[in-house]
Parts: sequence; C-alpha cells; structure tokens
Amino acid sequence: MKAMVFYGTEHHLKLEEVPVPQIGPDDVLVRVRAAGICGSDIHIAVEGTTRPSRLPIILGHEAAGTIEALGANVNDWRPSDRVSILPDVVCGNCVNCWNGRSELCLHRQLIGIHRDGALADYVAVPARNLVKLPERISFEAGAIATDAVATPYHALVRVGKIHAGERILITGLGALGLHAVTLARVLGASWIAAATHHPRAGQRARARGADEVWESHFPDSASGSYDLAVDFSGDPQLIDAAIRELRPGGRVVLVGISEKTLSKAQVTVSSIVRRGIAIVGSYGAHVGDLSEVLALADSGRINLENSVTHRFALADAYLAIQHLAEKLGDPIRVAILPTLEESHPSALCRPQTA
Ligand SMILES: [Zn+2]
Ligand SMILES: [Zn+2]
Repeated sequence: MKAMVFYGTEHHLKLEEVPVPQIGPDDVLVRVRAAGICGSDIHIAVEGTTRPSRLPIILGHEAAGTIEALGANVNDWRPSDRVSILPDVVCGNCVNCWNGRSELCLHRQLIGIHRDGALADYVAVPARNLVKLPERISFEAGAIATDAVATPYHALVRVGKIHAGERILITGLGALGLHAVTLARVLGASWIAAATHHPRAGQRARARGADEVWESHFPDSASGSYDLAVDFSGDPQLIDAAIRELRPGGRVVLVGISEKTLSKAQVTVSSIVRRGIAIVGSYGAHVGDLSEVLALADSGRINLENSVTHRFALADAYLAIQHLAEKLGDPIRVAILPTLEESHPSALCRPQTA
C-alpha cells in the first residue's frame, strides 16, 4: 500500500510503498477514505516539538474509512462498514481506564504518533476504537470528528460539565475552538463569547452562533460573568484574561497545547482562591464522545460538512501540513483523501460522500 512515512523533521515525509499492516485477533483493518491534518501534525513534522515514539512512522491520527478485514475475535462489524476511528488506543486495564477516563490511559498510544497512523491506504486499529459512521456524514467529516470535534466536545461536556443556560467563553478559534462554538450552541449555552487574534476566524465564529467576538483584545474591565471558559489557544494572555472573566465558582478548561508558562499572569492567586475558580486540563476524547458527536451530526443538530476547507492527495501530505501551518487560504480543517489523484488546495471543491 502507499503511505506517508515520517523520518524526522529534516527529511519531511516520504511517499512509500509499504506492506499492508497485519491485524491481531481484536483488530480491524480499515481502508482510509479521509484523514484530517491537525495542529499536532505541524508540531511533529514542521516544528519538531512533538516527537513520535519511534521513527520511521506513518503519521495521521484523524481518520474515517471502510472496513477491509476483521480479526478472528471481532464479531460486531462487517466488511465495508463505514467507520470513524478514535485515535487513542487504550489499555482498558489501568486506574484511569477503570474510572471512565480512558482518554488519560496510563498506556495510551495515539495512532500516527506512537503507532502507525492513517496517512496511508490502510490502517490497523483495535475494533473498540471504531464508531459507525452514518451514511449521511461524509468520510472527511467523519475523519475530523475524531479529534477536531470530539476533543472540544469532551472538554465542554465531560471536563467542563456545561449546563444549558450557561454563559460560555471560547478562546482561540482554530478548528477545535470553532467547533466548540458550534457545540456550545447546540448544548444550550445562553451566551457565547469568542476571543481570537484572527478576523476571519471571528467571522466564522459569528456564523456558527457566537453572540459576541473579541478580536485581539478583551473588554477593558472583566465582566466576571462567565460560567465556563474553554481555551484552545494555549496563549497565556488569553487564558489569564479568560480566568478574570469568570464568575465566582466558574471553571476554565485548558485544551490548547503550548510550552509557555503562565508566569506573567495578572490574575492573582487570591482571586482564584476567593472566587473558587476551577482550572483543569482536558486532553483528547473517548469513544463515547465520538459516538455522541456523530449522533449530533447524523440528526442534523450540528453540521460538519463545511469544516474541511481544503483537500489534498496522499502524496501532498507535507504540503497539506504546511498549508495548515501557514493558514494559506484561511483553512478550518485540511483533509487528505487517499483516492484523490490531484490536490485541491481550494475551498471550492465539494465534500466526497461516496
Ligand atoms: Zn490532533
Ligand atoms: Zn488504560
């Protein structure tokens, strides 16, 4: 099969002919129909700040496709079933897995970072990583649902414990932040404010239901009125400002990854203590999140079909990662379609549903 193999930042990615992966008795071989490109791929392939646990490795952790082959113990699926693939392969047998927090599995392995991923014709994963992809959802929407939508869903619902009627603040409006706006709306937020440094992202957030957009700067005096803030920027200034916008008893969930420290924060320790502010991280998602996201899309409550703005052939995966890194053409999500002969780095091509 063809695969994009990563040998380290100095070598980029190489399109290679490699053996189709072997599957174990509990695994499934999936023919990849679409794979999303994520900020993590930029951290790995361009910046070198996230290191895969081995080299060479096939990248790609957001994927959807059809089942090609089943392991001997797999009874719940049939060949050619349409599926989305949760990227986190978990052990099911550690303290976090036992406590329903498998996204923090102590032996967690992500496809495309710790084991071979989905920038290839085929990927092998445990059957328990699959969620059925409904017919009305395209493969590319099913691919990005696994991370770009399931991750903000997990942050809002499981970690942030969003309630209907709450005032929500979203900081950072890349694909995850933008989907957080979409999700907060459908989950019953009474008011959504969104903060970004990018005007185009602000327009998109308004179109997806943000009531208020703060571009480049927060209001001069903090309102102290938000119930829940979720940060996707990893920007200490935005996080600091978000904490000051919370009401007493408010929660802030950090999702955006950054190596910066909060050392220049203006918020004081006493204002966190006296206001009983909860600050908590949220990393990844579990299969229940992905299943609920796909149910919301299947029922038409959310629309993910406009979230992939640029499409590339497998051979152009590095170009696709650069495209996202440099925000060429204001992408939301960029997808690799292994069946595509030629790349379409334009927002005008239609989603593939078949
Ligand atoms: Zn990702
Ligand atoms: Zn575990």
